[in-house]
Amino acid sequence: MGWDEQSRRNVLAGMGAGLVAAATPMTALAGSKRLAAPVKKLRYAVVGLGNYAVNQIMPRFKDTESCELVALVSGTPAKLEKYGAQYNIPATHHYNYQNYDKIADNPDIDAVYIILPNSMHAEYTIRAAKAGKHVMCEKPMANTAQECEAMIAACRKAKVKLMIGYRCHFEQYNLHVIEQVRSGLIGKPHVITAEHGFYAQPGQWRLDRPLSGGGSMMDIGIYSLNAARYLSGEEPVLVTATESTDRTDPRFKNVEDQIDFQLKFPSGVIANCVSSYSTGHNSFRVTGEKGWIGMEPATPYTGHQLWVRKGGKTEQVTLPPPSKNQWAGQLDHLAECVVSGKEPIVAGEEGLKDMRLIEAIYRSAREGRAIKVGA
Ligand code: NAD
Repeated sequence: MGWDEQSRRNVLAGMGAGLVAAATPMTALAGSKRLAAPVKKLRYAVVGLGNYAVNQIMPRFKDTESCELVALVSGTPAKLEKYGAQYNIPATHHYNYQNYDKIADNPDIDAVYIILPNSMHAEYTIRAAKAGKHVMCEKPMANTAQECEAMIAACRKAKVKLMIGYRCHFEQYNLHVIEQVRSGLIGKPHVITAEHGFYAQPGQWRLDRPLSGGGSMMDIGIYSLNAARYLSGEEPVLVTATESTDRTDPRFKNVEDQIDFQLKFPSGVIANCVSSYSTGHNSFRVTGEKGWIGMEPATPYTGHQLWVRKGGKTEQVTLPPPSKNQWAGQLDHLAECVVSGKEPIVAGEEGLKDMRLIEAIYRSAREGRAIKVGA
């Protein structure tokens, strides 16, 4: 996966020591001739002004070292007006979904952050690449692996960076658990459990397959899947899955509720994972020959709780407050990659790997058999 040893060190170094010299040109490595003269920060347009954009992402730009929010894209004029005023973004930098391609002509925009329903990720990534802009795209990367491949190809062709919004790769407790597992704290790992779920309220795009691409697996189960991969540090070779959905529940006309899946990794580690739209879960644990390390909640916005069990004793571990929150780390990482030319630790290929596995998980559940993957 993208989480190789060097990437992990880069992120740990970046979290503590700051990222890049802010004066380095951000556009130097981008493909389009229409791009701007050198700028001091990576200047983002946020695309889609829904819940995650306005409550989590937009307020975090102030916490970054190397990023700036300079443009907004929305289909709702009132939102453009409201958030334009709040973030001091003039009307010249407001776009809608029809004139979105005109961002190509705006030299103030270096990158877009796509925070739209899943089915729109591929289209808006490809249009951004064609406009010569770097792309941060929310998880899940798209509705299908085929769309992910098209997104990667478009960004490669335009010579722009593509990164997926896997914020946990920039969160200090998750990084600490990875470090501890790799350093042998719990001995040889054997079993990972990862559980994610919440009660999905009716009447939202998440429950509409054409927009969401699927049910809990696409939205929240992907955290169990991605965690199993970064905790093990391996890619699975075998996938088995079982779905359980009450089709009389009007929420689940065309998407799944619960889908539990098991991943077998080459070292022999087995991950048992939960994904649910009816029950609350947010935890993981890695159990090895000498004990276990785990968190609950494991992947929240704030309030991570970490425990280690060794030598018959369970202890809670509290880390000092981070120098940078997970969103600022994520936003700054793309800026660093644009400057350095490195690939993001959670590049498009990382989103594609999850999407291929999600397709295998669905196939296993559908066909009632184990699916070999990664050959
Ligand atoms: P949301 O429903 O709150 O926002 C979606 C936005 O898209 C809205 O502004 C809506 O107006 C706009 N939109 C445009 N066309 C639309 C259409 N045809 N149907 C519905 N909405 C349309 O959703 P959200 O919770 O902000 O999620 C957006 C994306 O962010 C999703 O891909 C989701 O998986 C991701 N997300 C990630 C995290 C995370 O922690 N990384 C958390 C929440 C959401």
